[in-house]
Parts: sequence; structure tokens; C-alpha cells
Amino acid sequence: MDNNNQNLNSSRVYNDITEDGDYFTQKQYMMIAISFLITHVFFEGFYIWLSCTPMIYLNIVSMLVYVVSIFIIRSGNTLRSVWFMALEVYFHIILATVFVGIKSGFQLWLFGTFASIFLPYFMPYMSSKQRRQIGNFSIIIVLTFLMLHVCADLKMFPTTYNPDERMARVLYCINALIGFGAITLYTAVYNQSMAHKNEELRRLADYDFLTEIYNRQRVQRILDKELQRKNETDENDLFVAILDVDFFKNINDTYGHIAGDNVLKQLAGIFKKNSSKGFIYGRWGGEEFLLIAPEDISYEEFGSLLEDIRSQVEETSFHEDGRDLKITVSIGAAAYRDGMTAEELVNLADERLYIAKEGGRNKVVVNSREVESKVRIQEGER
Ligand code: GH3
Ligand code: MG
Ligand code: MG
Repeated sequence: MDNNNQNLNSSRVYNDITEDGDYFTQKQYMMIAISFLITHVFFEGFYIWLSCTPMIYLNIVSMLVYVVSIFIIRSGNTLRSVWFMALEVYFHIILATVFVGIKSGFQLWLFGTFASIFLPYFMPYMSSKQRRQIGNFSIIIVLTFLMLHVCADLKMFPTTYNPDERMARVLYCINALIGFGAITLYTAVYNQSMAHKNEELRRLADYDFLTEIYNRQRVQRILDKELQRKNETDENDLFVAILDVDFFKNINDTYGHIAGDNVLKQLAGIFKKNSSKGFIYGRWGGEEFLLIAPEDISYEEFGSLLEDIRSQVEETSFHEDGRDLKITVSIGAAAYRDGMTAEELVNLADERLYIAKEGGRNKVVVNSREVESKVRIQEGER
């Protein structure tokens, strides 16, 4: 039952995404509708100049379609207006080709229409129904192009309103440019919007949702890279630290989980405030954070930096619902030694964090005899 509900909900979310024509923003669709309306105002002048009576009237219908589309987009039903506009373009192309003649090249706009209809076909969240609609319309567009040429060859279209040969050639060039221009513009905007979405996804993949700093996967990748660089070049030292909030469970138990969340956010703010010092930091999990030392500082200097952060946390008043909470943190640090894996390096820092906890918390431990000897034994075993 629960499972069913979940499926129902997720399919509703799924539709929400596609319902508003997700690949462009509402504002971009509005711009498209307005620019098409303006274009048709120019067409009106052109058809009057050509004395092409049927197109003069049909173009008025086209303009009305865009006025209505603008209202539909404003009401938020973007996807409906997209289909409405696509159908207008489609029928306008057919009628203009029929009345102004195949030599004037209005049928070339079908390429632009095809691009704009077919590109979203590959969007992963398109429902099978939408995919079918897009597929069918794309096939119809290709067939229409061929049909228009066949009908023109069979001289099935009236020639009453056709411009002369020279004018038709000029029109053909202009319409070819419009066709290519539409493809270029559409793909450019489409790619830009995809790039923007990819950027958004990368952000979601790299950052912790709560604290908005790097998440574990991201700092882990950075650490792996640093380790690889260290092994390849042997230029810089590599130091890391694990920072853990002391008695954080008490904060949750006393003030609630949301208060705990806010404290974590403000703690991340302290790291951000210190970020000019060049260290890299991320949420390692729960109330634990991994810090990677900046390049070109000694282990002693890294120790002082950590001590500085520890004391800043101790002195900070964490604002929560009108109250000022105080917390402390314990930190364990470790320096890379030849042959270590990332896991061993972090574990060493973790063991020193444990010593800091055992030693009364609110402490930074950068060296310790017990851990040192353990490492030496491990190194001896290697
Ligand atoms: P210690 O000084 O030994 O670290 O004590 P502690 O209470 O901080 O450690 P413990 O591991 O017992 O508890 C950690 C708590 O952190 C338990 C968990 O509910 C809380 N916690 C982990 N992640 C989050 C989070 O995202 N938000 C909140 N509010 N609490 C969290
Ligand atoms: Mg803790
Ligand atoms: Mg912990």
C-alpha cells in the first residue's frame, strides 16, 4: 500500500516536471511567443504588399494564436502553449507554401520546426505518451515537406498569388535563412539550458544539501587526487584533519533536530569564513568534517590553523530560535607518509580525534605517542 502511494506520488512529480515544458523556462517561452507575434506583424505587411489575400486573413489568425499563447503562458500552462504555437507554425508553413508557391521556400521552415519538436524527444523524463506525440509530429513534418514538393510538382497549388520568378528567388533565400536561423537559435538556447541544468546537477552531486559545503564524495575525490599528486610529484606535504562536534547528541536531545541542523549550518559558516586560509573542507558525515591542509604550510602551521578554528567555534554563539548555544569541537590531524592510502591517512586522523575525545574533548591532537607507535608497527609490517 505504502509502495503504491509512493509510486503515485513519484508519477505526480514526474508529470509536474514535464507539465511546464521543462527544457525552456516560462520566461523563454514568453520571449518566443512575443518574437513570433512581432514576426507575424511584419508578415502581415509583406502579404499585403504581395496582395496575397488568403494569407492576409490567415496571418491575422496566426497573430491571434500568439496573443492567446501569451495569455496561456502567463497562466502557467506552458506546455499547452508550446503545442499551440507549433501547430500554428506548421499550418502557416503549409498555407504559405500553397498560396505563395513552392519556389518561395516557406516549406524550408519545416526544418526549424522539426529541430524544435524533435530535440526534446531524448529528454529522459518524457513520458511515453509525450514521446509518441513528439515522434508522430516529427514524422508528419518530414512527410509534409515531401508532400508539399510532390503536390507542387503535380501543379496542384493555385498560382494566382505567386510572386514573379526573381521575387520568388529572393523569398527563397530569406526563408532558407529563417529556416537555418531557427535551427541555430533553437539548438543554441537548448544547449545553453542543458549546460545550465548539468551545472545544477553537478552542484547537487558535489555539495551537501544541509550545510552547502562539499559532501563526502567530493572531498574524498579531492583527497584521492591530492594523494595521487603527492605520489607522482612528491612536491608537497599532505595533511588532513577530522573535526567532530562534542556531545552533539545532547544538542539534538535538548533543543531538537532542527536546532542541531542549524548549528551544523552555522559551523559550516565558520569554515567558510576561514576559507581564505586555503584549506579544503567538506562534510564527512553526520557532525564530522574533513579538512585538507592548504599547500605549502608545515604540519605545525596546520596544527595552529586547527587550533584557531577550534577556539573560534568555542567562542562562537550559535543562534537558534532566540537562544545562544555553545558548542565545542574535537579535532584529530594526520600527516601523509609514503605508501599510505587515503583510508589509512583518514583513519590515523580519526584515531587522534578519538584521543582528543578521550582527553576531555575541545582539543586538537596532531601527534600522539600511542598512535605514533601503532603507525610505526604498521609500517614495520609492510
Ligand atoms: P561525541 O562528543 O562523542 O562526538 O558525542 P556526540 O553526541 O557528538 O556523538 P554521537 O556519535 O553519540 O552522536 C552524534 C549525533 O549527531 C547523533 C545524530 O543524531 C547527530 N546527527 C548526525 N547527523 C545529523 C544531522 O544532520 N542533523 C542533526 N540535527 N543531527 C545529526
Ligand atoms: Mg560528536
Ligand atoms: Mg561523530
